[in-house]
Amino acid sequence: MYFISTRGGERVTGAQAIVQGIAKNGGLFVPETFPKVSADEFEAMLSMDYPERASLILHKYLDEYDEGELLSALQEAYQKFDDGDPAPLVKVENGMYMLELFHGPTCAFKDMALTVLPFLLRKGCDLLGIKEEILILVATSGDTGKAALEGFKDAEGVKIMVFYPDDGVSKMQKLQMCTQDGENVNVVAVKGNFDDCQTGVKKIFNSEECNAQLLEKGVRLSSANSINFGRLAPQIAYYFSAYLDLVTSGQIEMGAPVDFTVPTGNFGNILAAYYAKQMGLPVGKLVCASNKNNVLTDFFARGRYDSKRPFYRTMSPSMDILVSSNLERLIFEFSGRDGELTAQRMKKLAGEGRYEVSASELSKMKQEFYAGFTSEDDTIECMYEFFTEYGYPMDTHTGVAMNVAMNYQKEVQEEFGAEEHPMVVVSTASPYKFPQDVLYALTGNDVKDSFKGIKRINLLTAMKVPESLKALRYKALRFKTSVTADKMFSEVLKFI
Ligand SMILES: *Cc1c(COP(=O)(O)O)cnc(C)c1O
Repeated sequence: MYFISTRGGERVTGAQAIVQGIAKNGGLFVPETFPKVSADEFEAMLSMDYPERASLILHKYLDEYDEGELLSALQEAYQKFDDGDPAPLVKVENGMYMLELFHGPTCAFKDMALTVLPFLLRKGCDLLGIKEEILILVATSGDTGKAALEGFKDAEGVKIMVFYPDDGVSKMQKLQMCTQDGENVNVVAVKGNFDDCQTGVKKIFNSEECNAQLLEKGVRLSSANSINFGRLAPQIAYYFSAYLDLVTSGQIEMGAPVDFTVPTGNFGNILAAYYAKQMGLPVGKLVCASNKNNVLTDFFARGRYDSKRPFYRTMSPSMDILVSSNLERLIFEFSGRDGELTAQRMKKLAGEGRYEVSASELSKMKQEFYAGFTSEDDTIECMYEFFTEYGYPMDTHTGVAMNVAMNYQKEVQEEFGAEEHPMVVVSTASPYKFPQDVLYALTGNDVKDSFKGIKRINLLTAMKVPESLKALRYKALRFKTSVTADKMFSEVLKFI
């Protein structure tokens, strides 16, 4: 299987796509064609466990990787998750399910891919005969950073450096990252928001000068950001797994369409769902949920992506994003895979902060996607109601998704009066990861201390507190550097 750049030109293997991270012309790597899952494979997957299902899906894209090794790596990765099942599906009411992706080492869905990426990268280097040390650069809005650090800590031949916005992540996220252990890790705060971080990292990647300076020192750059295909691929698997779980538990018949609602930031998670659909998964609507930073809602309404707008800090910081990088892959598909046009649009986005798609592209997108956003107050209300009514506590990102999912279902009902598809809401973080906001939503009480928040939520919900979060309280702060965006590369040089 080959991968091509969304901006035309390049054609590489899966290993190359993963090791390189981003195409030379700044484009993102996409599969040359979407592999299909046959009816027989669907049947066979019913009785498989999660790593086996994931292995089947991943190997279709990464066919130069050894299938047995891939399966062992997946088994090892998902062993790090609580309670055996890395992606349990929980029924909350008739026709409404939560796909819980937060049982990994850092309590957010990023673990689903970042526990696997080190293998994909290391093996990819082997396949390509690469001998240099790999330096992973990450820009994070909070959860990626920690999950990448945890995934790559003490990995051989790899160093990892994480940049996060100084005032754009939650206290708990900051604590998780700045107490990270491992000999090959570094964490630096950047003065600005997530987009400043992401732009800074992209600049280093795209600069020939930076790359040359690093190669001279025997270091090769790679990315663990959600633009890396190695991040996307493991995410495709859980949409299949959730669907198969609905079939095996007798909730649906094989072949019946299911809707998914995804709390969205960089458009990686929901794009994986779209890829699953291209592979043959019976997906109905994909509901793209945003918080007050509703650039995607506007895009799907009008076909104009406009990042020139106020940036809001919300209770769902991992969705506080104005430039959703993975959307490039989607507009590439809907342009009829026109690399030149996609390149033009991305150039416009970089220069003027906006671009447009045609009316016919937009109307095709609207058949597949519904987009909505929710205010802070409505998110809190929704979290409260869900807890009161169903005893189900959810984190703030999932709260956004749930609210948009309910609005979507209401709209469908009013418009068509039709029977809805089953709805799977993707739950992306543990409520304990955002304890103050979650406690406030559930009880109206404010606590200053995150750990007090955790304790109160535990008393209220009886939900188990993840060990990794408990342990944070006693860990020493290791990383305190804070720089302006123009100093990011000099920090890289200091580190290597
Ligand atoms: C990263 C993240 C998101 C957004 O996912 P994207 O793939 O960037 O759209 C949503 N919720 C949580 C908790 C996250 O960590």
